[in-house]
Amino acid sequence: MSTVGIVGGGQLARMLALAGTPLGLRFAFLDPAPDACAAAVGEHLAGRFDDQAQLARLADLSDVVTYETENVPASSVALLAKRLPVYPGSSALGTARDRLHEKTLFGDLGIPTPPYAPVDTREELEAAAARIGLPAVLKTRTLGYDGKGQAVLRATEDIEAAWERLGGVPLILEGFVSFQREVSIVSVRGRDGEVAFYPLSENVHRSGILHTSYCREADPCEAQARDYARKLLEHFDYVGVLALELFEADGQLLANEMAPRVHNSGHWTIEGAQTSQFENHLRAILGLPLGSTAPVGCAAMLNLIGQVPESIDEVLRIPGTHLHLYDKAPAPGRKLGHIGLRVDDTDTLASRLAQLEALITSRGS
Ligand code: AMP
Repeated sequence: MSTVGIVGGGQLARMLALAGTPLGLRFAFLDPAPDACAAAVGEHLAGRFDDQAQLARLADLSDVVTYETENVPASSVALLAKRLPVYPGSSALGTARDRLHEKTLFGDLGIPTPPYAPVDTREELEAAAARIGLPAVLKTRTLGYDGKGQAVLRATEDIEAAWERLGGVPLILEGFVSFQREVSIVSVRGRDGEVAFYPLSENVHRSGILHTSYCREADPCEAQARDYARKLLEHFDYVGVLALELFEADGQLLANEMAPRVHNSGHWTIEGAQTSQFENHLRAILGLPLGSTAPVGCAAMLNLIGQVPESIDEVLRIPGTHLHLYDKAPAPGRKLGHIGLRVDDTDTLASRLAQLEALITSRGS
């Protein structure tokens, strides 16, 4: 029986373990939080991602290592990689950790992006704002997620406050994209180079946090998105699931960011695809054949952010609904669970989602 070591013990690690247990896999997680939610489904090693002793212990316990976040220090990956296979590899992780490296690579591979400029000083911010134009989005190059570490500059008067808030660490200024929609492509590549793509996800964010994802079968943008994802998979000689987030603006796709891991916009695959992104990530890193990524019915996913529905009964009474609670302490803006919805047609999907939204928002979230 193989053991998969995961750096990170949050909901993504938990869902990887839930998908891998039927395959006869065991799991060990490295996570600093004493109440890491993946601990319920494997062995929890409490420690920071750079804790040498716990990294060594993770390597002792595991046959292969993966991670649920890109915020893993390069030195930790190097330490693990000396002992056992680590997938995806360190170059994809290193690129995804830094928004500037990521955007530079997109450009090198011919993947269009919004205009951007690195910003390290107040003067550079002024110059970048003048060159790119406003509105624009100022972001920390590393450690940002769910809209954290970001400020929208609508007018030159906003520069001061944004610099006060974010200045002092390496930053990037991006042109603000008036997109028609946000989409992502969840792809997977096996150890033998086999590649598969899920149907495009269409994503709705609120306050910078993913709110809803829809499986969009046969989307007009799918071929373009696949082409961009394939370029990245091949560039990195990638193994595992890779998600690429894109804006659709005026008929063109612009890359926002990539995630070298299973991704929130792929949670609908648990019920809405032949093989979930979690199972396929495990298959890929273990060198097993990939499972079909074909959709099953019409699927969507609704995140439960900040609070969970008061009545589980009422949620589950809506046909086609599947509740995933992460067993995390409620906090504003925190992802506490999600609802997967799979039905037979798009009209039913829209009406059931509206029902679910009403149930969730009736608690004021
Ligand atoms: P990110 O952390 O880069 O994924 O940003 C979170 C969300 O903020 C995105 O999903 C978008 O909704 C919004 N956003 C980020 N960058 C931009 C941009 N350059 N233009 C417009 N909206 C953006």
